[in-house]
Amino acid sequence: MLIKTGVPTVDDLKKVYPPEERMQQGPVAIIECFQKIPCNPCTEACKQGAILPMADINDVPEMDFSKCNGCGVCISRCPGLAIFVVDRSYSPTEAIVRIPYEFVPVPEVGQKVVCLNRAGEEVGTFEVKKVVSGGKKNMTYTVWIAVPQELCMEVRNIRLGGVAHGE
Ligand code: SF4
Ligand code: SF4
Repeated sequence: MLIKTGVPTVDDLKKVYPPEERMQQGPVAIIECFQKIPCNPCTEACKQGAILPMADINDVPEMDFSKCNGCGVCISRCPGLAIFVVDRSYSPTEAIVRIPYEFVPVPEVGQKVVCLNRAGEEVGTFEVKKVVSGGKKNMTYTVWIAVPQELCMEVRNIRLGGVAHGE
């Protein structure tokens, strides 16, 4: 139950996942924003019209996945850090997960970082492939991490320093 735990359930996530066919085609945004809150910068951030206009500012965002080109602009524009881009076409064994990141220091390309799931549990240590600034006035960076394909819908945060258990 999301409200109690802060962690979305499988059913919550199923509602926002792109179709598997779209996932295989390349990078696509996944919006894990489940609570009705007065917020809508995501809808204005997407110039492709992939994040649908809201009838009410308290609505949860809805996607038209066919319009999303995976540009990632929306990631750093979401104050809730609820938007991710996943690219399953990266390689047969690895996918790229792009996550918003607001801590310092900002990780560097090539750095191995501890990856966490939505519950904050360590799921492995993987390499940063790219780091993108949100812009001069936006302190949210986007960090690209190459993770095993089977973890691309699990990894949703990182922690710098230290090594995951079992590594
Ligand atoms: S990744 Fe780009 S095209 Fe897709 S929803 Fe975000 S801003 Fe729109
Ligand atoms: S900007 Fe982020 S927190 Fe706000 S409605 Fe959009 S996805 Fe949710």
